[in-house]
Amino acid sequence: MSDAYAKLLDKLRDIGKLDALDALLEWDQDVMMPPKGITAHAECVAFVASERHKLRTSPEMGELLEQLNDADNDPVRATNVREARRKYKRAVKVPAELISEIARTASKGRDIWAAARKANDYAKFSPTLGKLIKLKREQAQAIGFKEHPYDALMDEYEPGATTKDVGVVFDELRRQLVPLVRALADAPNQPDVSILHRSYPRPGQEKLCRKLAEDLGFDFDAGRLDVTVHPFCTSIGGGGDVRVTTRYDEQFFPPAIFGLMHEVGHGLYEQGLEPEHVFTPMGMYCSLGIHESQSRLWENMVGRSKAFWQTRYALAQEMLGASLAGVSLDAFHAAINHVAPSLIRVEADEVTYGLHIILRFEMERDILSGKLEVDDVPEAWNAKMTELVGVTPPNDAQGCMQDVHWSMGAFGYFPTYALGNLYAAQFLAAAKRDIPDLVDRIAAGDTRTLLDWLRRNVHRHGMRYQANELCREATGESLSVAPFMQYLETKFKPIYGLA
Ligand code: ZN
Repeated sequence: MSDAYAKLLDKLRDIGKLDALDALLEWDQDVMMPPKGITAHAECVAFVASERHKLRTSPEMGELLEQLNDADNDPVRATNVREARRKYKRAVKVPAELISEIARTASKGRDIWAAARKANDYAKFSPTLGKLIKLKREQAQAIGFKEHPYDALMDEYEPGATTKDVGVVFDELRRQLVPLVRALADAPNQPDVSILHRSYPRPGQEKLCRKLAEDLGFDFDAGRLDVTVHPFCTSIGGGGDVRVTTRYDEQFFPPAIFGLMHEVGHGLYEQGLEPEHVFTPMGMYCSLGIHESQSRLWENMVGRSKAFWQTRYALAQEMLGASLAGVSLDAFHAAINHVAPSLIRVEADEVTYGLHIILRFEMERDILSGKLEVDDVPEAWNAKMTELVGVTPPNDAQGCMQDVHWSMGAFGYFPTYALGNLYAAQFLAAAKRDIPDLVDRIAAGDTRTLLDWLRRNVHRHGMRYQANELCREATGESLSVAPFMQYLETKFKPIYGLA
C-alpha cells in the first residue's frame, strides 16, 4: 500500500467516524433526548460538522489526492480515492461564507415554513424560499456543472445522476403512469379499505413488527427498533449498529407494518455492507436512490405481495386481533394495495407516488435554471398536480408547502425517491431471472434467497459503482422504466379487475 493511500485511508476513517457520531446524535435527538438537551445537542452537532468540514477540505487532503490516481487497478483503492476526490472538490469549491449562509437560512427556514404551512400562508414562506433558491443557485455555480445547474445539486444525493438522464427516464415514467392511474381509478373492482381502519391494539402491532423484521433477516444483535413520529433508519458506523424506527396507530395498522418493512429494507442494506471497509466509501451505501430501492423493494414489492403473506397472513390475523377475523387473504391483499390519486406525497400509494416526484423534479429543475420564479411556485404546482395526478390542491398547505425539503435547502433530493422504485423493480426482475422459483420461495416463507441475491449483487459493492453502473452490473441493463411498469401492471390490474 502506498504511503499516500495509507494516509488517505486514515483521514477517510476519521471522517467516517464523524459521520457515525453525527448519525448517533441525530438518532438520540429523535428517540431519546429530553427537550432541554437541545442546546448542548446543537453545539455538538455544529462541532462535529465543522471538524468534518476541516478534515475534508484540509490542505493535506488536497496534497494526498494530488499524489493518488483514480484509475488504480485495485477497485477498493480506486473507489476510496474517487469518492474522497469528489467530496473534496464539492467542499473546497463552495466559499465558507456561502455554506454558513445556507445553513443559517435553512435552520431558520424550517421554522418559518412550519408556521407558514400551519397558517396556510405562502407569502410568509416565499421570502425565505426565494433566498434559499438564490443561495442554492450560487452553490450550483460554485460547484460547477457540465449542462445544468441542477446536476450539481443532485450530485450530493445521487452521485453521477444528470438532469438530462433523469429527465428522459421521468418523461417516460410520466407517459406510462398517468393512464395507468386513470385506469385504476375508473376500474370496476375497488378494494374495501375499511378493513384497514378498525381496532388494532398496539401490543399486537409491535409483536408483528418485530416478527416481520426478524423474518426479513434484520439482525437485532446489530440493530434496534424504536418508535418515532417520522420513521427512519440510521447506521452508526456501518452494519454493526443499524437503528430503525416505526410508529403505531391503533385505528390503522399499515403505517406501522409497512413503515417497519420500509425501514428494515434500508437497514438490511446497511447490515449488508462489508465490515472490513467500515468508515470508508467502499463500506458505504452507493446513493440515496439505491438506498431507497432497498426499502421500496421490501416494503412494496415483497411486503405488499400476495406471495409474502401466503405463509404469514394467519399469524398477522392472530397478532393483530379480532379485526381481521373473517377477512380473506385476497381482501387483505387488495386493501393494502389500494391506489387513489391524492394530494399528499407521503401518503401516496406506490402507483401515484412517482407522479408526485416528477412534479417536484420538474419544478426544481426549472427553479434552478431560472425558468420558474418563487412567486409563481404555487400556481405552477397546482397546474402540475391537476395535469399529473388529477387532483387540485385546495390550498398551499396541501400543495407546494407540504414538504419540509425546500425549507431546508434540500434541492435535488426528491428524484431519489422515484429512482428508488425504478431500481427496486429492475433488481427484482433480475433476481427473478437468476432464480426462476423466487416467487415460489417467497410464498413458502423464504425471503433469505432474495436477500442473499441483493447482498451479492448490490450491498457488498458499497460505493464501488455509481448508481447506474451498479444497475448495469447487477441487472445487465441501464436503468429503464419497463420493469417497474411491468411490475405495476402485473400486480394491480388483477386486483382492480382489469386483467
Ligand atoms: Zn426510505
